[in-house]
Amino acid sequence: MTSIDRVGSEMNAHEEMLHDLAADMTREAGVLFVEATAAYLARALSGDDAVSTRLDAHDIADRFDGPMPETGRPLTDVLAHIVSDVIPESNWLHHPMAMGHQVAPPLPVAIWSEALVAALNQSLAVWEMSPVASILETRVIQWMCDLAGLGPRAGGTFTSGGTEATLTALLAARNALFPEAWERGVERRPVIVCGADAHYAVARAAGVLGVGTSNLITVPSRDHRMDPAALRDIVDGLRARDIPIIAVVATAGSTPTGSFDDLEAIADICDALGLWMHVDGAHGASALLSAAHRGRLRGIERARSIAWDPHKMMLMPLSAGMLLVRDTADLDAAFAQRAPYLFGDGAEQRVRDHGRRSFMCSRRADVLKVWIALQRHGRAGLAAIHDDLCATAHALWWAIRERSDFEALHEPESNILCFRYIGSGGADEAALDALNAELRERYNRSGYGWITTTVLDGRRVLRVTVMNPRTNGSHVRAMLQRVAALAAG
Ligand SMILES: *Cc1c(COP(=O)(O)O)cnc(C)c1O
Repeated sequence: MTSIDRVGSEMNAHEEMLHDLAADMTREAGVLFVEATAAYLARALSGDDAVSTRLDAHDIADRFDGPMPETGRPLTDVLAHIVSDVIPESNWLHHPMAMGHQVAPPLPVAIWSEALVAALNQSLAVWEMSPVASILETRVIQWMCDLAGLGPRAGGTFTSGGTEATLTALLAARNALFPEAWERGVERRPVIVCGADAHYAVARAAGVLGVGTSNLITVPSRDHRMDPAALRDIVDGLRARDIPIIAVVATAGSTPTGSFDDLEAIADICDALGLWMHVDGAHGASALLSAAHRGRLRGIERARSIAWDPHKMMLMPLSAGMLLVRDTADLDAAFAQRAPYLFGDGAEQRVRDHGRRSFMCSRRADVLKVWIALQRHGRAGLAAIHDDLCATAHALWWAIRERSDFEALHEPESNILCFRYIGSGGADEAALDALNAELRERYNRSGYGWITTTVLDGRRVLRVTVMNPRTNGSHVRAMLQRVAALAAG
């Protein structure tokens, strides 16, 4: 091969590459993805297909076994592969019988927005990389802070979710208590206090922040909510022993039952002792949008920080999380409290460069889809969806009360309900635990519907999270009917 030939073939390869990129950038190429997505949405909504795969993990791994593709294929081939092998075996969250985890069947407008978020690919690290998105993030965060009633100094950041929001909040709280900790580490042995039903994000933060999970003090729950009297005893005891308390973490919409801690009572205790109250509202803070439900969050305006996930009850696609703080300076101090440039010149930049207030450097513009969804539906539209999800969970609770073969473990405060099959009664607890675990397995594997399970009050229970506005009373009754039929036969 002569050097001329080699240059020639490289040129051809280069031209071919440019040709492929141009072809994939056309409207026609985009339509292939739009059609596959719209077809999935239509079939999922119809409820005629299975909710989830019947294959096990090994079968799926076998299907995708093989070496990395050495050369590319036409886009139509790739789409055909996605349509035959990826979409059918995924969890169909838009199916009205999908009532599993706290993951949204995303709002259609947010689904289409994702392509735009990717196409524009604005990084939220600094304003110059995202001239509009940075401003929109400030705008949306401000709207949310106002809904929470956090006051004039409030601010925040988008996050990958509630776990990062709570980690960042507790980092800010740690640095507020120990201003030297960023550089020198934690030299005294502080604790973090949370409820027994808190999400594991809190324990994880304790581990990551060098506090240690054994220094996470859990307050007993009463009716699945933090017991404020027990909290008072615990913090009084810690104070008497001179043990520093980084924060008290309240939960607004707990993971197991969707219950709301009494934020007013917890804030009274925190304020009296000057303690940082963090509200983990990853699931439940969306109730702030709702005139009917926002009362459950009374006292949230007294939080020093709040975690709130739009990718839960605002039905955003993963990921969209938020951390709100009552005083933006707390968040500035979370990551670089000794950096003088933050507090010197460039105040303008300090406000606009969100990377200074985030654990992440490169960060996608998740705010865009939230902002677009708010333009499309408004607060009232999102509130109507939120309230509908809660109403359907409540309809399930009523349906269970009307039957003798199931029992509910609590009345739903949001869109989550734990219940169990008890049959005609008389079975012992161990047998019921085993039966309910087995029923969940068989029900989900049938493809008819999809629910979850957890351990609540020491019992194995079934758990439903209503995330789909298309799920209604007849769907939740059909779920009970099918589970009962499985138990009978
Ligand atoms: C979902 C949830 C989390 C975790 O949030 P991610 O977005 O999954 O990181 C934390 N706390 C509560 C109460 C939650 O419901």
